[in-house]
Amino acid sequence: MLPDIEIESICLTRDATLRDALVVLDKTGAGIVLLVDGKRGLVRTVTDGDIRRQMLAGIELDATLAMLPPREPHTIGPNASRKDALSEMDKESINQLPVVDAQGRVEGLLDRREIDAQILLSTPHMGSSELEFVEEAFKTNWIAPLGPNVDAFEREFCEKLGLSHAAALSSGTAALHLALKLLGVGQGDRVFCSSFTFVASVNPIAYEKGEPVFIDSEPGSWNMSPIALERAFEASKSEGWMPKAVIVVDIYGQSANMDPIVALCDHYGVPIIEDAAEAVGTLYKGRPSGSFGRISAFSFNGNKIITTSGGGMLTSDNPDFVNRARFLATQAREPMKHYEHHEIGYNYRMSNILAGVGRGQLQVLDERISARRAVFDAYRDGLSDIDGIDWMPEPEWSFSTRWLSCCTIDEGRLGIASQALHDALADDLIETRPVWRPMHCQPVFAGARYFQHGNESVSDKLFDSGLCLPSGSSMTKDEVRRVVEAVRNIVGLG
Ligand SMILES: *Cc1c(COP(=O)(O)O)cnc(C)c1O
Repeated sequence: MLPDIEIESICLTRDATLRDALVVLDKTGAGIVLLVDGKRGLVRTVTDGDIRRQMLAGIELDATLAMLPPREPHTIGPNASRKDALSEMDKESINQLPVVDAQGRVEGLLDRREIDAQILLSTPHMGSSELEFVEEAFKTNWIAPLGPNVDAFEREFCEKLGLSHAAALSSGTAALHLALKLLGVGQGDRVFCSSFTFVASVNPIAYEKGEPVFIDSEPGSWNMSPIALERAFEASKSEGWMPKAVIVVDIYGQSANMDPIVALCDHYGVPIIEDAAEAVGTLYKGRPSGSFGRISAFSFNGNKIITTSGGGMLTSDNPDFVNRARFLATQAREPMKHYEHHEIGYNYRMSNILAGVGRGQLQVLDERISARRAVFDAYRDGLSDIDGIDWMPEPEWSFSTRWLSCCTIDEGRLGIASQALHDALADDLIETRPVWRPMHCQPVFAGARYFQHGNESVSDKLFDSGLCLPSGSSMTKDEVRRVVEAVRNIVGLG
């Protein structure tokens, strides 16, 4: 809601003088004096300009405010949103707006500078050494793709996360695309894929003219349900086909339930591609996300927990996969003096400049994870007494980075639906986002098969009720508090 301003300090009554008003303007820097009657009823506002006009008209500074001509003040009610207040200020071309209750009494003053601040869902957060790595690239003129930062970023990424081999690429989507190619997914091949995910998990299946088969989430982790996966395998077995790969997504910084999923895929002899795009630094039973896939993909897109503005990483225990990924990502250029090509390749490599940003970001990854987890904890603590907000669970085997702070809203208990909460927070300049709309519901994948966790589709239910709150690691304590207070006000517990 609206920030408090020490209101007494800018209120004067009609027997105060123009000089008194100038002193208040000078002392408070509020840019405005409120002329009130004895009961704090707002009579009019007084600005520098009003006083200047009186002086030009020959009025002495000892004259009282009582002689100012009447003027209906522009005001706003105490329950107005930031958006309402800003649009009123825009309409009247003013930067302050008195808050007045139903009886016409002054309650506060809104200042454009203080309420104009948007809190975003997830913003990039640079550390201190990114520029040094980038400058080094400039100094040595390694602007071209590839170069020492790329090699170092790949090496340092593996060391930091505990992975074996990595190829830095232009995006997480590129990493997933190459993973499918490396596993030989082609026309008509079916691929099992988490339904509750971002579309980039699935699009590369379509690039290769494969056919996605969607797997529901389990309620305990929001990730791929081993029960639904088993159903899908049983169905495919009885129908006499097998998927070429299973894309397992680690959503919102939390690992999927890997032991049963890996056991199933091993049993049926189908390789896993782990989409760890949202899970840099995530652990499953102490083991890093991205170490469970035959091939895994990470993303450094601008909204992710660490970013190169755009970029991705393909990782694998098998160096042959990683070497071949580098080859395909470099236009499949054969190692010869001239440009020689025997197959179709891609321009998917990360540039040396962006890898420099990535090296710097890697140094602050631990801080970014703690900061995101702290944001989540502050929400959970600040809203713990509210019935009807349930937080994304963190199973005992999981260490989630809380890339995004996610909750579900039970409209029956809370009295407001997640969509309405989203809209009300937007009016307070707080950006939230519904959780991913499941892929089996997306028009572009209409007709694709879907295997549910149980009688109800878990991912559909998550979409109906789920909300991602602002989660950036650069959020200040005050911003987190503002979100908590806004939610409390909206649900009537402010
Ligand atoms: C971000 C994301 C991707 C794609 O990564 P880009 O680097 O943006 O191409 C893939 N899968 C998931 C789950 C993601 O969140």
